[in-house]
Amino acid sequence: MNVYEKYQVSQVINASGKMTILGGSRVQDDIIEQCALGAGNFFEVKELLDKTGEYIANLLDIESAYIVNSASGGIAQAISAAICRDDHHKIMNLYDPSYEKREVVICKGHNVNYGTAIEVTMRLGGAKVVEAGYANECTLESLKGCMNENTAALLYVKSHHCVQKGMPSPEDFINLGHQYGLPVIVDAAAEGDLVKYYHMGAECVIYSGTKALCGPTSGLVIGKNDYIELIKKQYAGIGRIMKIGKENIIGLTYAIEKYMQTPELTLQQQMERLKPFNDLLNQLNGVSAKSVQDGAGRPIIRSEITFTKKDAKKISALLKSGDIHIYTRDYKANLGQIEIDIRDVNDEELMMIYRRIQELVEE
Ligand SMILES: *Cc1c(COP(=O)(O)O)cnc(C)c1O
Repeated sequence: MNVYEKYQVSQVINASGKMTILGGSRVQDDIIEQCALGAGNFFEVKELLDKTGEYIANLLDIESAYIVNSASGGIAQAISAAICRDDHHKIMNLYDPSYEKREVVICKGHNVNYGTAIEVTMRLGGAKVVEAGYANECTLESLKGCMNENTAALLYVKSHHCVQKGMPSPEDFINLGHQYGLPVIVDAAAEGDLVKYYHMGAECVIYSGTKALCGPTSGLVIGKNDYIELIKKQYAGIGRIMKIGKENIIGLTYAIEKYMQTPELTLQQQMERLKPFNDLLNQLNGVSAKSVQDGAGRPIIRSEITFTKKDAKKISALLKSGDIHIYTRDYKANLGQIEIDIRDVNDEELMMIYRRIQELVEE
């Protein structure tokens, strides 16, 4: 009996990307082996976190790195670190209203929901959320107008979820924070470039272990040494509630090393992999498929499928409700399009997706 039968859960093909609701990434066997090494042995966890952090910092040639349980946990602790600094009493009394210096400024167009609203994560870290600007526009002047003596930090969210137009560049945002002597935290959860925002000068940058890094459930915080040391102090406070297990500390460290050594598929190679799939789809009546690059500019190519005779939303719903639940990327479904993200789809699954679409359009 396989795991789907045993627990009577749905079998899933994930053509939607790194979706937390589907479990993030497909974790490769060699990474699972490393997780097993972590699970089956004891460590002094604090030392393990320090040393794996140093190891990752060396790999990336940066000051400091620290593994956490998830990007969300990293964001919350990066914020509580800004509020508490190294004050143990504050760490233990994070939400005490008499500590007023807890405002965290975020562009309104960055205040997104990635499964939970980022403001929930910010408040968990003790922030009083201060939105700057408007949904479609946030100028440096708007940001300046939000800063005062109670500002503890600035948060920049780099994500396809965010409004892409009318927002300040990360460089300008980081420089502004520094002009005011404030730490700048960057949520780069789904980004693949691990050093870009660090080199722009951000105090800390947060990544999800299960997204671009293809690791187990985990998160990575990188940044300046002093700031990462402040975040580590949160382990005695809210950090304990969001602890990471030894298995995933070892697993993520290995996954990062592997990620650094594995050349990314070029855009050309990704297009080549998609071509036979698109060619098959283009032979179907009322269907056209082509390769398109990620809307937020990441080096990811997906198949964009346009349905002229069927409702794309219905097709997507039917794909999800067959014997095997096929999840596609549906941000453009109201425009008659669905996208296929093949990063976690194997060749056999890709053919299954094609055959199911064929069935649905020929019905
Ligand atoms: C996925 C995501 C997160 C959360 O990452 P987890 O590791 O699942 O906690 C935070 N911010 C953004 C922009 C994301 O896309």
